[in-house]
Amino acid sequence: MSKNEIKVGILGATGAVGQRFVQLLENHPWFRVTALAASERSAGKPYSEAVTWRLDTPIPAAVVEIPVSLCEPGLDCDLVFSGLDSAVAGPIEAAFAAADYAVVSNSKNHRMDEDVPLLVPEVNADHCGIIDRQRKRRGYGRGFIATNPNCSTIGLAMALKPIADRFGITRVAVTTMQALSGAGYPGVSSLEILDNVLPYIGEEEEKMERETLKLLGRFHDGRIKNARTVVSAQCNRVHVQDGHMECVSVALENETDVNGLAEALRNHRGPPQELGLPFAPRRPIIVRDEPDRPQPRIDRDAENGMAVTVGRIRPCPVLDMKFVVLSHNTVRGAAGTAILNAELLRTRGFLD
Ligand code: NAP
Repeated sequence: MSKNEIKVGILGATGAVGQRFVQLLENHPWFRVTALAASERSAGKPYSEAVTWRLDTPIPAAVVEIPVSLCEPGLDCDLVFSGLDSAVAGPIEAAFAAADYAVVSNSKNHRMDEDVPLLVPEVNADHCGIIDRQRKRRGYGRGFIATNPNCSTIGLAMALKPIADRFGITRVAVTTMQALSGAGYPGVSSLEILDNVLPYIGEEEEKMERETLKLLGRFHDGRIKNARTVVSAQCNRVHVQDGHMECVSVALENETDVNGLAEALRNHRGPPQELGLPFAPRRPIIVRDEPDRPQPRIDRDAENGMAVTVGRIRPCPVLDMKFVVLSHNTVRGAAGTAILNAELLRTRGFLD
């Protein structure tokens, strides 16, 4: 292990998101996985025995023999990524932060805490400044909690950000078609989803409606002030393995046309691209001109699953403009954004 590498642990390492962390962190230039933790059902077993591995690449050789620990401070690492079940994530993540670990989480528990950043680096990198306030308020030393949004919110916010910056957004209506992997394993039963669409995903609409406002909000005077945009979400589960698709209509403060909107999206770049972070896609938003794109099977792996694809940009007769967004829900929508967040936090000195 070189002295520039950071030791990382994964909480919830046996779950759907935990497995993505393990897969994506293999050969990461800055982060080395040295600890894996899950429930007492898994603790004590070597990782390869504890996990039911469901990804299409082999378990990385470096972690096969690592014994799974309980999710308690004392793990041999400085940073933990959390893919914990939200039923238990809240207090476990707080205990790690209090014990001087940097906690970068996927779970919903701390996302809306006023002193916790809800981060997507291409959208609101400056919000990580709230960590100073969090450390002071909570009496943390070098520990802190940073979170990434819900999977469907990440794709939406990435597409909205350049539009909000250039034209201003007053209202958003979004209808999602969300992949099965978003429900974890075993998730939705096959008899429920085959030949079917489920028009309800528990708490998903509320998460999209509130998290989007925090993401598009302004960090000013040590506080995050939510955006005043109104968001209405309708969320559906569809028979797709990976890749959330979203049909979005927006009302704008300043008029534009199809080319203006496409150009704003296509040219969007953020700190990850400017800094050349290891997990940064070259183009965070890919705009497709074909009338039948994006599609989950074809577009979800764009830029290794880290790019969001937008297509079908056209005028909306009810609001102003409409378009379709596609993002990989367990890569850009979960573990991939968490890793990019950790990279950003390192460049901003929060992992020193
Ligand atoms: P999952 O497959 O059910 O995995 C849950 C993980 O939590 C497992 O490693 C499990 O360990 C561990 N766990 C459960 N109870 C525990 C306990 N009492 N103590 C310690 N560990 C415990 O869930 P998931 O789909 O990966 O989701 C994980 C989190 O990420 C959730 O908060 C979810 O909302 C969020 N998320 C998921 C997605 C997605 O696309 N799936 C996207 C964004 C965010 P054992 O194997 O030992 O039981």
